[in-house]
Amino acid sequence: MTEPYVILIGLEVHVQLLTRSKLFCGCSTRFGAPPNTQTCPVCIGMPGSLPVINRQAVQLALRTAVALNCTIPRSTKWDRKQYFYPDLPKGYQISQYDLPLSHCGWLEISDPKGAFASKRVGITRAHLEEDAGKSMHDEAVGRADSRIDLNRAGTPLLEIVSEPDLRSPAEAKCYLTELKLLLGYLGVSDCNMQEGSLRVDANINLHVGTADGPVPTPIVEVKNMNSFRAVERALSYEAERQWRLWQELGVRLGEPGGHKTTRGWDEGRQATYEQRAKEESSDYRYFPDPDLLPVVLPEETVESVRASLGELPAALRARLETGYGITPYDADVLVNQGRALVDYYLAVADACGDGKTACNWIQQGVLRWLNDRQTTIDAYPVPATEFAALLKAVLAGELTTSRGREVLAEMIDHGETVEQAMKRLGIERVDEAELETLCRRLLEANPKIVAQVQAGKEKAVGSLIGQAKKHNPNADPGRVKDICLKLIAGM
Ligand code: ZN
Ligand code: MN
Repeated sequence: MTEPYVILIGLEVHVQLLTRSKLFCGCSTRFGAPPNTQTCPVCIGMPGSLPVINRQAVQLALRTAVALNCTIPRSTKWDRKQYFYPDLPKGYQISQYDLPLSHCGWLEISDPKGAFASKRVGITRAHLEEDAGKSMHDEAVGRADSRIDLNRAGTPLLEIVSEPDLRSPAEAKCYLTELKLLLGYLGVSDCNMQEGSLRVDANINLHVGTADGPVPTPIVEVKNMNSFRAVERALSYEAERQWRLWQELGVRLGEPGGHKTTRGWDEGRQATYEQRAKEESSDYRYFPDPDLLPVVLPEETVESVRASLGELPAALRARLETGYGITPYDADVLVNQGRALVDYYLAVADACGDGKTACNWIQQGVLRWLNDRQTTIDAYPVPATEFAALLKAVLAGELTTSRGREVLAEMIDHGETVEQAMKRLGIERVDEAELETLCRRLLEANPKIVAQVQAGKEKAVGSLIGQAKKHNPNADPGRVKDICLKLIAGM
């Protein structure tokens, strides 16, 4: 090994699926309702109540699993995961243990700026489970108490576990970004981290190079990170901390198979802190849930889900790069905005016939506008057909780039068409033939300049541009120059 150590990171992501009702009862999953108003005997665990599977949750989970290239077994079952915590009224969570909905998939990640080579990150499994409630400590003003809101108890979650294939905090962040993008395109989750719709736990350890070969350090699980940037920083911190410990203790640090420890991320201190020894899976005393039947997923069901996935981000980026001639970086920028923006881009690019110009103009004229207003493409006032009409005028040389920008600003401000905006600005379309006649007249009137250009002083043509502007204020300086030089060359 040339480096002192290699970092191994595996991520466990919980995403809340976009169902209207909970996983095993009819209660609403809406966020933000007053505490404990979206509960029933099933999700608060009253004795004798029976769970009923939400088909839509299974469907959304299946969609995601297929998009993550997972193997889908013919049948999948439900298990009870026992643990005791105030926000878990039943005393167990309904989850999936040894027969998960899916396993053995992968997600390809690549860095648009090329910081690392693209790679496939293995997906160990993706399974369905119910969420627990929410504990709130000392939240009421002037009180020191704990309260529990069970609105979230029973909400469907998909737990997506990756292999420890990620080799740096930056790769981990990239994986999360790509996964979130995919989930958005699939329409299975809103992935809102602030509302807890997407939660990340990270497992990290080092393989340290020694004379006897690589030696793994004990695995640490990091929790409580509330943004992808926080995940990246927590993992950088943790890798450095483990490396310092190794340098101090070496193999005395502990066996890699020994107890996994859990550490929290303290955003204020920008450091991880010890939480508790991680439970082994035997501590959870899993057993099959006797109240629920296994879910059978026939081949036809899986295939119909596969056929309904639509174009996913990776395929879309590839199509934009090869079909529209834009860079991987630009394709990434567009695809990250979501399908609606990409559709707008495709409509403009197809209509104006120039993918690169459409990409530049949309980044400058649309994305900036949307970003300033924190809004989405459906709020953009210029329809794709008019945007394309503007670009056609620019591409045909009827408008300079800067004049085009002015026209676009008018179109946005007044909801006008290209024609109306040009009229408002007093811009007339300059006919190419008209412009050539004008140039020809100017050259005839200025034989000295023609002679200078013929003698190799191309710059001399500059004084004709000013004269052309006097005759027609809408004449494009670049076009005037090109036409004059072409005419002189032909003399
Ligand atoms: Zn309920
Ligand atoms: Mn879980």
